[in-house]
Amino acid sequence: MLTTTQPATGVSSIDKELAAIRSYYNKGITKTYAFRRQQLLLLKKALLKYEQEINEALYSDLKKSPEESYASEFGLVLAEINLSIKHLRKWMQPKRVSTNLVNLPSSSLIYRDPLGVALIIAPWNYPFQLLMIPLVGAIAGGNCAVLKPSELSSATSHITAKIIEEIFSPEYIKIVQGDGASVIPNLMRSFRFDHIFYTGSIPVGKIIYQMAAPELIPVTLELGGKSPVIVEADANIEVAARRIAIGKFLNAGQTCIAPDYLLIHSSVKAKFIDAIKKTIEEFYSEDPSDSSSYGKIINERRFDALINYLSQGKIIAGGNHDKSKLYISPTIIDHVAMDVPLMKEEIFGPILPIHEFTDMRQALNIIQQNPNPLSLYIFTSNTKKEKEWVNAVSFGSGCVNNTAWQFANHHLPFGGVGYSGMGAYHGKYTFDVFTHAKPVMKTPNWFDPNIKYPPFKGKLKWFKMFIK
Ligand code: NAD
Repeated sequence: MLTTTQPATGVSSIDKELAAIRSYYNKGITKTYAFRRQQLLLLKKALLKYEQEINEALYSDLKKSPEESYASEFGLVLAEINLSIKHLRKWMQPKRVSTNLVNLPSSSLIYRDPLGVALIIAPWNYPFQLLMIPLVGAIAGGNCAVLKPSELSSATSHITAKIIEEIFSPEYIKIVQGDGASVIPNLMRSFRFDHIFYTGSIPVGKIIYQMAAPELIPVTLELGGKSPVIVEADANIEVAARRIAIGKFLNAGQTCIAPDYLLIHSSVKAKFIDAIKKTIEEFYSEDPSDSSSYGKIINERRFDALINYLSQGKIIAGGNHDKSKLYISPTIIDHVAMDVPLMKEEIFGPILPIHEFTDMRQALNIIQQNPNPLSLYIFTSNTKKEKEWVNAVSFGSGCVNNTAWQFANHHLPFGGVGYSGMGAYHGKYTFDVFTHAKPVMKTPNWFDPNIKYPPFKGKLKWFKMFIK
């Protein structure tokens, strides 16, 4: 395992190790169906063997309960592996598509070609699944991969490294730990990755994009941002309160797709506030610091940043905190100005600011201040309104009358748009990210009309007939 604490002599050793991965990939071993399937089975077996240790690591990093870990981390990875194993042969098969008139009697196939060596960089908030789901796609796609987990979720990074190093040779899948700001440039200094799959913040996403540009390395950027949740006057308020509370306070709000702020129709604001206060108590008891279902903030730096937000409006629920436990209670803040950090930065913690609106335009103006949210959630009973919202805002993915669960539906592509990222994955889409759609047209020899060859003079009318 490489770390940034390695001496300067380690630099050339990184280059050598990366060169070994390249030559391993070039042998073609990783491309066969049998190999890919076997590695996925191996990974599944190892994960099941280490499930308890993975849970303990997630508890240590973020105080996730085993139930939460299963629903939002381990189970998602397992489902992705199972799906990939089940469909791998079909996904790998070249897909026959139609051929247009001018090219007949050719036949057309789309092959799914492995990309080569992928670099997968993950954040700390869902430190297990955000590293492992892309890895499943990289393996299924027939690639080699270098993994870079977050240094901030050290317990999970440690157990993940243990598993990876136990089951995979470092020429195939290598895991590199340490501070991304030094590890990643070092990895990319003299090695060209064939794809970078990055999940993390917008500022670092821009750095990754810049680092990839000189060598034209394709990137998938899974970023963050401020995701609005809208509650219309005709919403079912009790259901909305429950579904917003779980999306917002899961993992103590440290979820990229958590509702960042609430836009609520004035007519239902008081009712909603009552309902969400009750819900918080039902979910996490009177003292959420004692609840096994409530997480902690990742570190003191993030804790301090979140505490600063508490003074940027009027706290109407929660607001309790304890630095020694990295605990901040589920908090609702009203009367927040638009120009404070709470409404400009991604909150990424258990603090929900509320803004009211009476017509859609007002709410849209607020959303426009942070364009292209990663997610958008709409609570309404009116299908026309639902469609208006979906069409009015450019967002990565979303839900109607729900929050966050779209992430767990592998039939849906998950990703951002514009500022919230590029590219999408999950299920078959993960396989697609880690393969190139390579089209090949095959033309028989028995039909070779002169019309296709020079001299072209006088053939324009035929071209116009066949090409349209
Ligand atoms: P981060 O950008 O600080 O770190 C992510 C990864 O990048 C880590 O592995 C880190 O070591 C590495 N890194 C940090 N600085 C780097 C640099 N200068 N050069 C290269 N690599 C570097 O993000 P984070 O704080 O770990 O995660 C929180 C952010 O991630 C939030 O914005 C959240 O919305 C976003 N996120 C997005 C998704 C998604 O699926 N779209 C999922 C989870 C989190």
